Amino acid sequence: MATVAEKGSISIHTENIFPIIKKFLYSDHEIFLRELVSNAVDATQKIKKLAAMGEFKDELGETRIEVSFDKKKKTITVSDRGIGMTGEEIKKYINQIAFSGAAEFVEKFKDKGDAKDIIGKFGLGFYSSFMVADNVEIISRSYTVGEDEAAKWTCDGSTEFSLEPAKKKERGTDIILHINKDSEEFLDEFRLKGILEKYCKFLPVEIKFGTKEESVPDGEDKEGKPKYKSVKVDRIINNPEPLWVKAPKDLKDEDYLKFYKELYPFSEDPLFWIHLNVDYPFNLTGVLYFPKVKNDFELQKNKIQLYSRQVFITDEVKDVVPDFLMLLHGVLDSPDIPLNVSRSYLQSDSSVKKISQHITKKVADKLSDMFKKDRPAFEKKWDDINIFVKYGMISDEKFYEKAKDFSLLKNVDGGYFTFDEYKEKVKTNQTDKDKQTVYLYSSDAGKQDTYIQMAKDKSYDVLLMDGVLDSHYISNLEQKLENTQLKRVDSDTIDKLIAKDEKIESVLSKEEEEQIKGIFEKAIKNQSMTLAVESMSPADLPVTVTMSEWMRRMKDMAKTGGGGMPFMGGMPDSYNVAINANHNVIQKVLKAETEEQKIKLAKQAYDLALLSQNMLTGADLTSFIKRSVELVS
Ligand code: ADP
Repeated sequence: MATVAEKGSISIHTENIFPIIKKFLYSDHEIFLRELVSNAVDATQKIKKLAAMGEFKDELGETRIEVSFDKKKKTITVSDRGIGMTGEEIKKYINQIAFSGAAEFVEKFKDKGDAKDIIGKFGLGFYSSFMVADNVEIISRSYTVGEDEAAKWTCDGSTEFSLEPAKKKERGTDIILHINKDSEEFLDEFRLKGILEKYCKFLPVEIKFGTKEESVPDGEDKEGKPKYKSVKVDRIINNPEPLWVKAPKDLKDEDYLKFYKELYPFSEDPLFWIHLNVDYPFNLTGVLYFPKVKNDFELQKNKIQLYSRQVFITDEVKDVVPDFLMLLHGVLDSPDIPLNVSRSYLQSDSSVKKISQHITKKVADKLSDMFKKDRPAFEKKWDDINIFVKYGMISDEKFYEKAKDFSLLKNVDGGYFTFDEYKEKVKTNQTDKDKQTVYLYSSDAGKQDTYIQMAKDKSYDVLLMDGVLDSHYISNLEQKLENTQLKRVDSDTIDKLIAKDEKIESVLSKEEEEQIKGIFEKAIKNQSMTLAVESMSPADLPVTVTMSEWMRRMKDMAKTGGGGMPFMGGMPDSYNVAINANHNVIQKVLKAETEEQKIKLAKQAYDLALLSQNMLTGADLTSFIKRSVELVS
């Protein structure tokens, strides 16, 4: 049907739509190009589909989309060879459909600040072009009509439009934007190329933007060597068949590594990856990579890119990807994620929840497989991946249930154990009189070496828990493992850490104990030290300084901002000082001739204890060294 020239008014109720669109999209003007190119892709895929079904019998021809600009005329043009539109269809799809959504759009989002991505939701994608253009033309020839039956629509961003017959040689649509004064930045090759590479890099139809030089064979020279010449060819800015749309069985490791480099050109190779491919009960494809973690959270976050049918949407994947997997890299593509709506909507959306759960399950299954197939290789990766696993176990009950079978505990000697294996290893020797199995751990094997050695002297095993998440992980484990306590190796004297039934008799009388306590009180004079005389093995240290497990945890948690009691963070440190009644140094203190000598010896023993806790610094350290020199000379 031929287009009859007409002028009309788009809709009487929605005069305010353009100012609102302009206002909401202010920070994101560049997405006009994403919207127009996506429409062109849709139109192209529709004609291909019609051809495949036999509904369209003519030559399909070149189906490349072309984006071009003219700096002098101040235009940007998006051309496709898709199904095109008749004049009637333009009226129906561009004027009416868009504007029936518009009233709702205005109503719903006029007061909200977070509405910048909702345009597509209401079929307003095309209208985002008015953010950057004073005037927009559509010249379109439907696949159903001839060269002389094309249609031309023009609109200047008011509610008035004009429609007239036009001539167009090729099937498809040209969208011509007459760029407004404020948006001339877009009339620039690098700017446009940048936007196309950001949003359109993996669109499924080839997109041409400008040309590039390419060297091609050009016969032979006199000596018979092949000659080359430089020619201009279309510059295609996208990869229409990115890795994640291919079948996993057709892909090799190199392909995954190559794609990783394509996504993150400057990153180290990833540890491994998971190819997601779901079509029921929702659609999801993608590849998630486990990166080599550096201990720098900020740098690593927001590396997953979210696509909807190969159109880049965002790299803010919060809510779609479970929190603990935010540090992964890769791409997710799902038409089921309602990407053009606001945050709060996304959080409550049930398909988003399902997707997040599915990703969690897939990751757990993959890890479990790796553990079962090749334990030594899994152990090798553990130091890099434990942060994901622990975070997942802390934050996700379902993940914990799966991970408890492959999650590893590492001890200070570099051994790796599953939960069951570890329980078996220590339960005989490390169960206390209350039937609690005590797992000893060190948060810093270097600094806590004295305590680790004391534990080893008793044949106790010490776990290494020196990761950023470990203080949270420890409390989490305690809640889940039955009859098990975790205690830092320097949180008490060794006999009290794992209190057994047997008791060591003290060689000191009640009076002597009082006396020794008095001497140490004079020597120490520190409010935050709580003194006690204890009857320990003569082989243990004469004085031990410890901070109780409970106190330390509260402080740690307050520091890292999770749980705990916030007031603990500001509390002064408080330590326990255990004086070993059975150590011969204590006898020496008691028997020293003068009060001054007694105090000096006590101070020396105490400073040694501080030293092994890395707490002796500054002037105290200097006077300790002086005193030591005196004592040995
Ligand atoms: P949406 O793409 O979300 O439906 P738009 O406002 O971008 O909303 O487009 C409205 C409709 O106009 C599309 O659904 C499509 O039917 C039609 N349309 C837009 N651009 C083209 C094009 N390049 N070729 C064919 N039809 C198009």
